[in-house]
Amino acid sequence: MKEYGELRTLLGAIDDLHRAAQVLEWDQETYMPGGAVAARIRQVATLRKLAHEQFTDDRVGVLLDRLAGLDLNEWGADLVAVTRRDYDRARRIPPHLIRDLALASGQAREAWRMARSTNDFQRFAPYLERILALTIEKAEALGYAVCRYDALLDEYEPGMRTSVVQSLFASLRRDLVPIVQAIARCDRPDTTFLRQAFDSEVQWAFGMDVLRKLGYDLMRGRQDVSAHPFSTSFSIDDVRITTRLHERSLPSALFSTMHEAGHALYEQGIDAALENTPLAEGASLGLHESQSRLWENLVGRSRSFWEYWYPDLRERFRDQLGVVSLDAFYRAVNCVTPAAIRVEADEVTYNLHIMLRFDLEQAMVDQQVAVQDLPALWNAKMEEYLGVRPGSDTEGVLQDIHWALGAIGYFPTYALGNLMSAQIFACARAALPDLDHSMARGDYTDLLAWLRTGIYRFGRSRSAAALIGEQLSAAPWLAYVRRKYEALYPLQS
Ligand code: ZN
Repeated sequence: MKEYGELRTLLGAIDDLHRAAQVLEWDQETYMPGGAVAARIRQVATLRKLAHEQFTDDRVGVLLDRLAGLDLNEWGADLVAVTRRDYDRARRIPPHLIRDLALASGQAREAWRMARSTNDFQRFAPYLERILALTIEKAEALGYAVCRYDALLDEYEPGMRTSVVQSLFASLRRDLVPIVQAIARCDRPDTTFLRQAFDSEVQWAFGMDVLRKLGYDLMRGRQDVSAHPFSTSFSIDDVRITTRLHERSLPSALFSTMHEAGHALYEQGIDAALENTPLAEGASLGLHESQSRLWENLVGRSRSFWEYWYPDLRERFRDQLGVVSLDAFYRAVNCVTPAAIRVEADEVTYNLHIMLRFDLEQAMVDQQVAVQDLPALWNAKMEEYLGVRPGSDTEGVLQDIHWALGAIGYFPTYALGNLMSAQIFACARAALPDLDHSMARGDYTDLLAWLRTGIYRFGRSRSAAALIGEQLSAAPWLAYVRRKYEALYPLQS
């Protein structure tokens, strides 16, 4: 069909512009000399602007209208449906608002950095107020059925509703807070041996061996070093990851590598037929995060995983780990400590950090709290949920960059990803009765094949809800946490 061919060609060119911007962004975070920042920001902005202009062109709307309801090939109908959704969303936001938000977030990022390094929230407050006002304007332009936050959440987690997140988080919190309190009363396992000096090159080589075994295809990807680990995709055949190396923290590089590998395995597993279309991405941020968490936590922090890998790791670091048993190591990499900083949180307390942000974001967007009141509210909620009080605003309300970027509505996807990861893993376990034995042999082939067949290959052609296949629930994650941590800590006492 002529119109379908034309739409694919247009979308292909737009995809090329976005992927080229991603190459430039990857370079900026890995190899680019620091002096090149200004030019690089301009170059990326030019590519993104061109892509946006081409995508919101009237012609795309005409083609989508003509193709609606027609009998298209296997993926064609999905491509039209997903593009329609993206197109309508993109057209609803007026161009001046996109410009204002880009400008405001550029300024807010600088103000946030200064405020964070000087522990001075007042420096950031006026910029956050501006971001918030523009975000509210964006939500109003996008429209929503029930509440403003729905419009924002939908950008990151298509189809998800605020009320659903509220009830998921409420049931999660009810059961999780007592577990965290019980763990906090227990003696902490010894973790000091993880903070000896571990040669970076040996850490790197170990991480690369793990990557290969997991099934990450190094002919279609590579790993580099960056300050903040991330994954990015230039095509289905070029999905890259980065990690960070800390001589004095053994878990840092390894679990970063596994986290980003999870994102990359998802993208490398997308069906080749979806290449160069808007379908060649993850179904939602939550589902994407579920895969990074599945590989990082459910696989990488499991006892079976370390039954295979620990002898190898101990051999490489004989001086540091020679006297440390497998059990002691397993306990140490699963140590739970309620603390103020989200990015350093363990898998048990992590979701509580997200709930706090979700509560505050909704209140901000509904204009029920003033930006000025955020630091005090933040600290009070930290105390309520985690039993800790941040030592400063730098360790409290100023710790994350997301609000400065204008990414309000993003945070819940982290916790949704955690919940999805346990739900999907429970299904995998039911389908693969030998899973633990395979993992204890360092064999992830069946698990990866199962995930590819049921989830990865579909890209964005199916919603996250359809791919999970059952209603999202906190129960599988809570069951996983209870089973695992009851063996590690005397939770009943
Ligand atoms: Zn992630």
